[in-house]
Amino acid sequence: MKTLPAQPNVVILGAGFGGVYTARKLEKLWRGDPHLNITVVSRDNFFLMTPLLFEAGSGVLDPRHAVTPVRRMLDRTRFVEAEVEAVDFERKVVVARHAPGTEQIEIAYDQLVLALGGVTNTKIIPGSEHAKTFKTLADAIYFRNYVIDQFEHADAEGDVIPPGMLTFVVVGAGLVGVELMGELTSFVKNICKHYPRARRQPAEFHLIEAGPRILPEMEQELADYAKGVLEKRGVHVHVGTPVKEIKPDRVVLPDGSEIVTETIVLAAGVAPNPLLATFPLEKDRKGRIATDATLRSKSDPDVWALGDCASIPDPAGKPYPQLAQHALREAKVLAKNITCVLRGGGQKLEPFLYETMGTLAALGHFTGVGKVMWARVRGFIAWWVWRTYYLSQMPRFERKLRIVLDWTVALFFPYDIVKLDLFGDKHPTTRANARKSSGAAAPEAEQVVKIA
Ligand SMILES: Cc1cc2nc3c(=O)[nH]c(=O)nc-3n(C[C@H](O)[C@H](O)[C@H](O)COP(=O)(O)OP(=O)(O)OC[C@H]3O[C@@H](n4cnc5c(N)ncnc54)[C@H](O)[C@@H]3O)c2cc1C
Repeated sequence: MKTLPAQPNVVILGAGFGGVYTARKLEKLWRGDPHLNITVVSRDNFFLMTPLLFEAGSGVLDPRHAVTPVRRMLDRTRFVEAEVEAVDFERKVVVARHAPGTEQIEIAYDQLVLALGGVTNTKIIPGSEHAKTFKTLADAIYFRNYVIDQFEHADAEGDVIPPGMLTFVVVGAGLVGVELMGELTSFVKNICKHYPRARRQPAEFHLIEAGPRILPEMEQELADYAKGVLEKRGVHVHVGTPVKEIKPDRVVLPDGSEIVTETIVLAAGVAPNPLLATFPLEKDRKGRIATDATLRSKSDPDVWALGDCASIPDPAGKPYPQLAQHALREAKVLAKNITCVLRGGGQKLEPFLYETMGTLAALGHFTGVGKVMWARVRGFIAWWVWRTYYLSQMPRFERKLRIVLDWTVALFFPYDIVKLDLFGDKHPTTRANARKSSGAAAPEAEQVVKIA
């Protein structure tokens, strides 16, 4: 018989919805009982509220307000900010590193929770490496600067703006692609007035979906509504159009036609975290950790998985969708089950059972769409419900207050067009200029744009 450790170590990898909420629930279940060590290891010291990423990307929200510090969300849990590099399942040790060049850290576990999330799927479309992604806070900050820069550049051009400079393409029209396009059209319409030269040529938007319709997460009627809203704003919605190839300056469609563009964002699904491929655990055909209904790995009883990196069967045997609302609830069941195992007593583990209470999408311009329980909502009311729901989900009162203040300010003032300098004197152009002034070989004669 296996003896239970007196002071077991539960190590959780990842501080997203799955990881942080597992730690919180464990803290609750073990309140007043110090005989458990909980450790969370994650590469960022913040928890990202992904549904707010679109507004963080357009500047409606200060990007810092779409995240919250992990350390302030947890009480007795040890937090380690580090990149997980490997797991030695024989020795039951996690190998991580705070930053490149620093020493490796080894963290021993008795029970391991994998909550490492996923990455944008770049394996479906050839040339995906030329597209931008929209998954992390850094992606959102970068994308906002990039879009503003496209307008600054177009405004600095001569009378003719180069083709594709103000053409914005989003590949993938699931929840993420549609919400991104909604917020982007709102942002671009609003900032255009500051760019009198650029706005002589209207910006062009394309939303491209391989499947037969947009928003497969929602009912057809609601998806049609969203499509209508975007089309009214001038978005070209291409459905049944699997992109053949992405090139640095264009998107190739299945009929061979091309959309010339300098901005391509890939939102064509989620692939498992690449680290999972190195784990000798049973996986599904997509490469996610295969668990049973209690969220325990099918091949290692001391390993658990949840969220986007796990394949958790529903009662019909189909994997649950990769959504935050699921990861949150999986966390509660997983923490209860680990507690059961660690406290012994032979209690039966609880299976994860959840039926979605609805899905909402914000479409920018105070518009949204979705279903809550049985009620279908559209337009302003859907947008309001969306905001209220995600505000209520944001941990900590201080963050909620900051978000409400940001939203209130955004109601009365236009979008900010300050382009934040992400590089300082490490910017590639600064280095090129320094090279020029130090007498290094001058580049070939450049074409001069004359501004009338
Ligand atoms: C833009 C966007 C909008 C979304 N909107 C919604 C929505 O409205 N509703 C909804 O239900 N779902 C939404 N989702 C999906 C939702 O965000 C995911 O399903 C959810 O985040 C999954 O939680 P998770 O804990 O599995 O992974 P994540 O939240 O992705 O967390 C994974 C964690 O692991 C860390 N990590 C990864 N690799 C390593 C490593 N090697 N070392 C250390 N740390 C590592 C990451 O930094 C992160 O903290 C959205 C997703 C995106 C991208």
